Amino acid sequence: VLQAPAVASQRSTREWQQADAEHFLHPFTDFAGLAKKGSRIITKADNIYLWDSDGHKILDAMSGLWCVNVGYGQASLVDAATRQMKELPFYNAFFQTSTPPAIELAELLSKVTPPQFKHVFFTGSGSEGNDTVVRMVRRYWDILGQPERQVIISRHNGYHGSTMAGASLGGMSGMHAQGGLPIPNITHIDQPYWWENGAGMSRDEFGKVAASWLEERILSIGPEKVAAFIGEPVQGAGGVIVPPATYWPEIQRICDKYGILLVSDEVICGFGRTGQWFGCETMGTKPDLMTFAKGVTSGYIPLGGVMVGERMAKVLIEQGGEFNHGFTYSGHPVACAVALANIRLIQQQKLVEHVHDDVGPYLAQQFASLNDHPLVGETQTCGLMGAVLLVKDKAKHQAFPSDLEVGMVCRGHCFGNGLIMRAVGDRMIIAPPLVITRAQIDEMMVLIRRCLDLTLADAQKNGWL
Ligand code: PMP
Repeated sequence: VLQAPAVASQRSTREWQQADAEHFLHPFTDFAGLAKKGSRIITKADNIYLWDSDGHKILDAMSGLWCVNVGYGQASLVDAATRQMKELPFYNAFFQTSTPPAIELAELLSKVTPPQFKHVFFTGSGSEGNDTVVRMVRRYWDILGQPERQVIISRHNGYHGSTMAGASLGGMSGMHAQGGLPIPNITHIDQPYWWENGAGMSRDEFGKVAASWLEERILSIGPEKVAAFIGEPVQGAGGVIVPPATYWPEIQRICDKYGILLVSDEVICGFGRTGQWFGCETMGTKPDLMTFAKGVTSGYIPLGGVMVGERMAKVLIEQGGEFNHGFTYSGHPVACAVALANIRLIQQQKLVEHVHDDVGPYLAQQFASLNDHPLVGETQTCGLMGAVLLVKDKAKHQAFPSDLEVGMVCRGHCFGNGLIMRAVGDRMIIAPPLVITRAQIDEMMVLIRRCLDLTLADAQKNGWL
């Protein structure tokens, strides 16, 4: 008889932390710093709550990592995985083979995505999705006899993943500094962040100005060399930066004017997050490609992909011949079965409508009410994403010096008070599960206000104001 494997409760927090520090290199982490401090060990979850190895209950206002859209503990996703694991745990989609879950998911995705999308290329993650975008965009222009169209334009402080192409598309200078990125033919324009870049302009005026940077860049490169523009409808990892309403329609107009492909990175914004199925619908664009991951399975199992619009699909299918690209897990049957159950649950529970009509507007109202707090310079929401910017002097539009790390101070209070909120610089951000209720938003707001007050007290005590 085999011995029962160790379960969480059979090791103490200290023991878990020790083993973690000895063997596990975490993503985006200062390894030595974490080893000294010890990881927080999360052991279980239900609905919008997590529990750590000391039994503390935590409200997860970040949906894991922007992914657990349907909340934790959904039995239909677990059942779908179990059923598929028993029936056919794996088969590939390479050598002219396919599997029912992958086919059914492709079919369902073409129904829930905007009408230009009838085809999908599956990957294992968002980063792989964006690598696929780079290869597919270049392949498309090649087939059309315009191989000189190589340049992809993206934005500073955008996030598109951590592979070589994903990190290159992203505009995170800290990532570019490690490993000689970006790869050639990727260039970045400034982001549509009104608070930082829009001084003296109304938000709507600024939206058009920020979009005009795209046209300037296209003209300086030469339109015949530009392949595509990529952006997140709302920048997530960059700090939930919701662009002015004038921004995306103008970006669309510029892409159309020069025949440039528009790519919407929906890894965070997809599957209901913004109050529509996809962020491009909220922003009013008609992209040629759409990267997705995270919310497609609510993070229960890894899966990503790229929706391919008919403009490109027609060329790739009818004129392309073999596309030399793909992954072992492209169309993984278990991941696809979980995605099917997840999307059906979003449909059955009307979660997109719930965000659009109920909790999204309610969150917007609650976040707006934070503006009377002395530390709050601006608040923004879009569906169930929100940001609170902490500033030194809101009347003077003055930020805190970045070395004070006020955001991290606030985040420390969040952890101490049973709330997971992320700090991006001094922007405190949330993206809770879409199943959150008004009463749970009230509960979250009590915690947010408490943490803002504690941060204000620190700022006063330390003479930061
Ligand atoms: N694009 C966006 C917009 C993202 O937010 C992320 C991940 N946070 C990615 C791509 C990369 O996805 P993954 O981590 O699954 O590779």
